[in-house]
Amino acid sequence: MNDEQQALRLDETDPLPSRRGEFLIPPAPGGAHPEAAYFAGNSLGLQPRSAADYLREELDDWARLAVEGHTRARRPWVGYHELLREPAARLVGALPHEVVAMNSLTVNLHLMMASFYRPSGTRTRILIEDSAFPSDSYAVASQAVHHGLDPAAAVVRLRPRPGEEHLRTGDVVDFLEREGDTVALLLLGGVNYLTGQLMDMPEITKAGRAAGAVVGWDLAHAAGNVPLRLHDWDVDFAAWCTYKYLNSGPGAVAGCFVHERHVRDSSVPRLAGWWGTDPAVRFRMDPEIAPPASADAWQLSNPPIMALAPVLASLEIFDRAGMDALRARGDRLTGYLEARLAPLPGLRVITPAEPSARGAQLSLRVAGAGALVERLAARGVIADAREPDIVRLAPTPLYNTFHDCHRAAEALAEAT
Ligand SMILES: *Cc1c(COP(=O)(O)O)cnc(C)c1O
Repeated sequence: MNDEQQALRLDETDPLPSRRGEFLIPPAPGGAHPEAAYFAGNSLGLQPRSAADYLREELDDWARLAVEGHTRARRPWVGYHELLREPAARLVGALPHEVVAMNSLTVNLHLMMASFYRPSGTRTRILIEDSAFPSDSYAVASQAVHHGLDPAAAVVRLRPRPGEEHLRTGDVVDFLEREGDTVALLLLGGVNYLTGQLMDMPEITKAGRAAGAVVGWDLAHAAGNVPLRLHDWDVDFAAWCTYKYLNSGPGAVAGCFVHERHVRDSSVPRLAGWWGTDPAVRFRMDPEIAPPASADAWQLSNPPIMALAPVLASLEIFDRAGMDALRARGDRLTGYLEARLAPLPGLRVITPAEPSARGAQLSLRVAGAGALVERLAARGVIADAREPDIVRLAPTPLYNTFHDCHRAAEALAEAT
C-alpha cells in the first residue's frame, strides 16, 4: 500500500468519521485542486453549511416582523444570546450561568480586566507569556497604564529557558511561589497561538490562585480544540474568539466565562450597560442597574443577532460531535501528520511531541516561511506563515482528513 492508499484507508477506518460534508470546503487557489487541503482552521475556521440557514432565518424574521422580531421571531432576539449559553457551557466545562456570548475576544479581556485586575500595594503585576498574541500584550499594557502604572514594570513576560521552545509548568509554578505576592493577574493563552503548546491549565491555575493572584485564560486557540473544565479548575475568568476552531465566521461573537464565585459577588466592579441588567426589569428603563447573578451581568449592549446566528449553528455541531471524541480524532490526525513530516529535511516541528501538551496544531520552524506557504498554496495546501520562520498547520478534527494530511506532507516534501 502506498502512502496515499494508507491515508485513504485511515479515513475509512477512523472511529470518528470526518464531518467534512457539513462544511463548505474552498477550492485550492488558482484552481490547483477542486478542494483545498485546508490547514488554517486555527486562524479562520471553515463555514458550516448550516450557518447560512440560521442567518437566513433571522434575515427573514427581520423582513417579516421588523421590531416585533424582538419578541416574536422564531428565536426571539431579546433572549437570543441565551440559546448559546448551554452549548457554550458544555464546550468549556462551565455552569450555564458562568458563560455568555458577547463582543469580541479583546473587548472581553478588557471587560474582565476592568473587573478583576485590581492592582493594590505591591501586588500590581500582570504575568503573560513572552510569545503572547500581540493583542493580549497591548491589552495588558494598556490596563497597566489605565491604573497609572508603568507597563514596563507591571507586565512580566515569561520566557522559555534558553534554547527551549516552551514554557515549563514547573517554571511557571516556581515563579508564582517565589514572586506570586507581587502578581495581581495571570493571563496566559490556554494553547499558545505560535507553538501550539497546550498549557497545564489546572496546575497553573491552582498555583496562581494559591499565590493570591487572579487567574484568567485566553482560550482563542483552546476553545473547540481541547476539552476544558473551567469551573472545576477554579479559573477566575476566560475569554475566547469563535472564528478559529469554532468555525463561526470572521469576527464572530466571542465567548466569556466568569466563575460562579464572582457572579454572586456584588462587590466586583463592572463596566455596565443595559443588557447587563436583569431581563425581567430591563424595559422598566430604571436608572439603577439590577444585575443578574450570572456572566450576563457583564453584557453591555443588545447583541448582534446576525453575528450570533453562525455561532449557534457551529455550537450545535460541537454538541453533536462531542469535544472529547473530537479531541481524540484531532490527536490521531496530528500524530499522523507529525509522523509524515518527521523524515523531511530542513524543517523542525516546534510543537510539543507529547499529545497531552498540544492540540490540533503543528508549528514548523523552517527558513522562508512566507514563500513556503505560497508554494504550498500553489499545490492546494492552505497553511499559515508567521514570519520569519514559522509555518502553522492545524489538522482540525471536524473537517480535515488523513488524506488532507497526506497532501500536506507531499506538498511540503516538494516545496521545502
Ligand atoms: C486570535 C487571537 C486574538 C484575536 O483577538 P480579537 O479580539 O478576536 O481580534 C487575541 N488573542 C489571541 C491569543 C488570539 O489567538
